[in-house]
Amino acid sequence: MSKYLLLPFLFISIHFSGQKPNFSYYVDTLCSDYFKGRGYVDNGHLKAANFLVNEFEKINLEPLGKTNYIQSFKIDVNTFPYKIDLKLDGHKLIPGKDFMIDPHSCAIDGSFKVIKTNLKNWKSLLNSKSLYNQSIVSIDVSNITNRDTISLYNEVKNILKNHFPIFWITSNKLQWSVADYVSKFPIININREALNNNFKEVDIHLQNKFINDLNTQNVIGKAKGKGRKSIIISAHYDHLGMMGDVKFPGANDNASGISLLLNLATYYSKIKSKYNIIFICFGAEEAGLKGSKYFTNNPLIDLKKVQFLINLDIVGTGEDGIAIVNALEQEKAAKQIGKINSQLNAFKKIKIRGQAPNSDHYWFSVKKVPSIFIYTMGGIKAYHDPFDKSETLPLNKIEDLYNLLIEFIGEI
Ligand SMILES: [Zn+2]
Repeated sequence: MSKYLLLPFLFISIHFSGQKPNFSYYVDTLCSDYFKGRGYVDNGHLKAANFLVNEFEKINLEPLGKTNYIQSFKIDVNTFPYKIDLKLDGHKLIPGKDFMIDPHSCAIDGSFKVIKTNLKNWKSLLNSKSLYNQSIVSIDVSNITNRDTISLYNEVKNILKNHFPIFWITSNKLQWSVADYVSKFPIININREALNNNFKEVDIHLQNKFINDLNTQNVIGKAKGKGRKSIIISAHYDHLGMMGDVKFPGANDNASGISLLLNLATYYSKIKSKYNIIFICFGAEEAGLKGSKYFTNNPLIDLKKVQFLINLDIVGTGEDGIAIVNALEQEKAAKQIGKINSQLNAFKKIKIRGQAPNSDHYWFSVKKVPSIFIYTMGGIKAYHDPFDKSETLPLNKIEDLYNLLIEFIGEI
């Protein structure tokens, strides 16, 4: 009997809706090969949206209006659907680990000589007109550390993308993203540790495919409440997709947030809140918060009747606590969460942050909808790389966050 006195047991019984939450199932599924990293190669984004529509149906969420859960919009996107090959002096580099194509990059194909220069001396190359056909310029920025050289690097990067094909040799962690235009020349970031100093020759096959006006979508459903006001719970389901045959699974970013959202949807479909709880799975977040921007400009509900929005993005760890973006603007909510957190003894720290345009809550705060964005801290460091995998994502604090959010929503 004594174990029933422990708080976690009591707590589970408070929030038990007849179905135990299952977080790893959704993360594993969304990171599987079929979804292609939920990007724009092989319709990964569309497969993920269809999966979500199916789950919304199973959970019994209501669509908003006549939408069938889907709100479509268009984006421009640069993609890399074909195998990428890069050899330096005959030595093959591993894509995603040794090098990352800049997401804006155009195509390049053939053998090239390497011209090495640095951040200060590149200007002399501007006059060499035939450079593009024969050579690639390589600039080593692996030992820049101070603020001045970093800002010089950013400045030069912006100029050079219009002048030559370029290798940036870096010791920073390689990260990828999604671009909505194509640069005039190819750009490739190479890990310093992957090459020897004297490389002279490059063999490269890189093809991009730019897609104009691609149809993508948000997936939106509602658990009806007792009153007329609403709370939105949002998370983006898209990720970076494929760079050639390298998949970016996006387990933490943001299969974890979608998994938490779907488990909360299951809960609120059974236990009615005083609010309508609207669940929005945003598309095209990684392409620049495009799904949430579209929704706030074309809302399917009256934004004035939204009491609060909680955005979940990267919630698969938590050993170092959680961060709340917009907490300074939503002081009362942040305090409530802090109080609930100490009652539940859930997270060791809650980091308070101000406004930041770093996820889908942003456009809602611009429209004056009270919004916060929660992410977890600590644990694995994989981010926007092929190592953000479901196999290594701990998900050890996600149920604590689930319980904390149900408690918080009950107090709003
Ligand atoms: Zn994200």
